[in-house]
Amino acid sequence: MLNCPHCNERTISPIKKLFLGPIFEHRCPSCRKHWGISQWSVVVAAVAAASYFGFLMVANPSRQVAQIGMVGMMVAVALALVFVVPVVRK
Ligand SMILES: [Zn+2]
Repeated sequence: MLNCPHCNERTISPIKKLFLGPIFEHRCPSCRKHWGISQWSVVVAAVAAASYFGFLMVANPSRQVAQIGMVGMMVAVALALVFVVPVVRK
């Protein structure tokens, strides 16, 4: 679990954080205040997608390698969203 930016209690589940996106906000069950994830999540996803399509254009990989790359990119974005992008007060 991750810490709430208001009360610092461990009330935020990584799954919730992963699927929240930067637009939505959620209420902490402990202090009842709202939190969301930073706009950086958009940058992280955009950079990952751009790198992936850049890789496709430059390396011109086989379909199988492209599919593995796609899965790898999505896993990397998910991990970055949970562990790197900060939780912010709303
Ligand atoms: Zn809280």
